[in-house]
Amino acid sequence: MKNTSEIKKSIDKNLLKLALSTKGFMPEDEGLALYKYFKLSATSKSCCGMEIGAYCGRSTLFLGAAAKESGATLFSLDHHRGSEENQIGWEHHDRELFDPITGKLESLNKWRESITKADLDQSVVGLVGYSEVVAKFWQTSLDFLFIDGGHSRPSAFKDYRNWAKHVKKGGILAIHDVFENPEDGGRPPYEIFLRAKESKAFVEIDSMGSLRFLSRIAQGI
Ligand code: MG
Repeated sequence: MKNTSEIKKSIDKNLLKLALSTKGFMPEDEGLALYKYFKLSATSKSCCGMEIGAYCGRSTLFLGAAAKESGATLFSLDHHRGSEENQIGWEHHDRELFDPITGKLESLNKWRESITKADLDQSVVGLVGYSEVVAKFWQTSLDFLFIDGGHSRPSAFKDYRNWAKHVKKGGILAIHDVFENPEDGGRPPYEIFLRAKESKAFVEIDSMGSLRFLSRIAQGI
């Protein structure tokens, strides 16, 4: 993807402002790329997207903007207890999100606040739970899937195996934090990206920063 200024012209300005003021790890150009590709894949009101890993809703707002414009629905799944790197003592721990009652991280309140402030309650559905538990019961085909959940090898591969199979032909799979160079970041998101390409079921169509976009061209994962 060369230029984000064109995409920026089409997104709701207030929503963009809210997204950029929301806590999270999604740079503006990558968020706009998410918006662009969910909008491209959501061609009717029955279209459905899934976000794995939502944190405080920063990426959810970019995707939600596309869902709202298209009349589509975005499901946003997170246990809201933070990934490994968000826990106490880790690099991305945020004291403001620490819940003294449970002794755990709590991002659900912030996520809900983000969705309501952005007026996305009719376009975005929050699923609170562990990805593999929800996946056991999920049966709906997806026009768009964004994997940005746990970055450990088991978590990343579980998310790929459990969810990529639901992407319909022509649908888009987006993966975040894909770093070819190990010095730039952890390997598992890169490894599932390679797995998707090796499956021959997906073909890479675009990238922005550490985001990779693939389109389903055949069955399988
Ligand atoms: Mg990420």
